[in-house]
Amino acid sequence: MRMSKMYLHTLREVPSEAEVPSHQLLLRAGMIKKLASGVYGYMPLGHRVLRKIEQIIREEMDAKGAQELLMSAIQPAELWKESGRWYDFGPEMFRLKDRNGREFCLGPTHEEVFTEIVRNELKSYKELPVNLYQIQTKYRDEKRPRFGLMRGREFIMKDAYSFDRDWEGLDKSYRDMYDAYSRIFTRCGLEFRAVEADTGAMGGSDSHEFTALSDYGEGVIAYCESCDFAATVEKAPCMLDLPPQDTEEKDLEEIHTPQAGTIEELTSFLNIPAHQTAKTLLFKVRDKIVAAVLRGDRELNETKLLNVLKVPEHELEFASAEDILKYTGAAVGFAGPVGLKGIQMIVDEEIPHMKNIVVGANKTDYHLLNVNYGRDFRADQIADLKQIQEGDRCPQCSAPVKLARGIEVGQIFKLGTKYSQAMGATYMDENIQEQPIVMGCYGIGVSRTMAAVIEQHHDEDGIIWPLSVAPYHVIITIVNVADEKQHALGEKIYQELLKQNVEVLLDDRKERAGVKFKDADLLGIPIRITVGKKASEGVVEYKLRKEKEKKELSYEEAVESIIQLIRDAEVFGR
Ligand code: ATP
Ligand code: MG
Repeated sequence: MRMSKMYLHTLREVPSEAEVPSHQLLLRAGMIKKLASGVYGYMPLGHRVLRKIEQIIREEMDAKGAQELLMSAIQPAELWKESGRWYDFGPEMFRLKDRNGREFCLGPTHEEVFTEIVRNELKSYKELPVNLYQIQTKYRDEKRPRFGLMRGREFIMKDAYSFDRDWEGLDKSYRDMYDAYSRIFTRCGLEFRAVEADTGAMGGSDSHEFTALSDYGEGVIAYCESCDFAATVEKAPCMLDLPPQDTEEKDLEEIHTPQAGTIEELTSFLNIPAHQTAKTLLFKVRDKIVAAVLRGDRELNETKLLNVLKVPEHELEFASAEDILKYTGAAVGFAGPVGLKGIQMIVDEEIPHMKNIVVGANKTDYHLLNVNYGRDFRADQIADLKQIQEGDRCPQCSAPVKLARGIEVGQIFKLGTKYSQAMGATYMDENIQEQPIVMGCYGIGVSRTMAAVIEQHHDEDGIIWPLSVAPYHVIITIVNVADEKQHALGEKIYQELLKQNVEVLLDDRKERAGVKFKDADLLGIPIRITVGKKASEGVVEYKLRKEKEKKELSYEEAVESIIQLIRDAEVFGR
């Protein structure tokens, strides 16, 4: 491609709304364009990267025997009502009606649609297993669309669905996808970890998330360096790990704690450690108030609470100050578990093991001292509600765990028979017995992967694409296009590389050399050939984007090195 002809509009300034490097660089490099919040278009260079990532995905999915197809984005509401998710998906779902008032949605995911396909067509055990996938645009009206391609409201996903006779079959399908995903993200040049994950709104049993490590990731994973434990913080179970406790239960006592409505204020007022207190958080779930009680120094894990309550995320909200006053009789900050009436109470499993704790008194400006579980209050349910913290004990081996931030680029689920049972997707086994199909589903955020690659591969000058997903392998920068020798040599190398199937950009623009170098760095093309003063001797400069060092080579050597490098990087396929 000649850059003089290319549709390319780079930006000098960092757009102010872009907070993370991938978002800034994609906009600056003119690879994406924003149309509305969380809605982006892919410009020619960005589109090429997207296609590279898709191609890697296709190759690895096909290698596992998965078959590509393409379903519609518009989905009838009836299917979602059958599975029960029409309501569960909540405000994240884009809903619409046709001219006759029939309800539809823009698909946020496709479990229902794929189940619908197979229930009408798959009849016999002889047709199983099968794995079907598509690369398709998804729609989610995210609460906080942000970070460009990282969290869009329209985005591209690869979604696959496996159909097996039994759980053993599903285990194999799942392992195959786990392996395919590991290869896909490795080939995209990502440093990632596969970690255990919560199944959330998808339902089912096992799940793994593939997390690309990045300080700008919205996800946090917990992992252990002494064993193989690794999980999202939402999923990670917490060990009981209490400091030594009093042996005797002391007498309950009310104490005046003016304006000490937060744990910090309370602990500094009473001069006690936070782990001797408990906090009582009130939520509204549908029309009911729910209390979650956990140690003062702990953080609530909302996913664990949702799992206990068995409600979708959009149903859980903090109770209002009025509701808190109504149910506890106190202002915000003084709720406690003793004497709470008409409220479902879920208590973290550490609480019953603690002695003489300090809690809110359900009376403004007062707390209770020496509260003990069993004697002073009881829970409706005891559960692990805590978020794991750096240094907490590993649930597998007790060594201190570490936390890291990351970007969820993919997730795989064992769905089991959740959808096949709800929607009647069955097959006949050898004994002519009807059995539910056992399913798995497997997603990759294709557009989010593009952002994740940039988060891991950039510097202050721009993107540094790995060869495998770069929009072009090589950029030839002609320093002075008015110089005939330079122009001719640039052209010659360009033609030579094209002949060898190298994807190459020729910067033949009538721009200053400085501008061209800046653009080449910003666009992140992995190999740069500069044709300058020594063109008359057939000598060029060879530089890799990821390295500082430049080499002077004869143009033949340069071409040779390029071809070798690309071969080594396996971009010519498997
Ligand atoms: P998240 O927790 O980030 O909201 P999710 O768990 O809801 O994602 P899945 O339903 O597992 O997402 O979707 C499969 C993949 O699609 C995710 O692993 C992620 O890479 C990608 N994805 C999900 N939501 C978005 C989005 N809003 N923008 C871009 N990619 C997304
Ligand atoms: Mg997910």
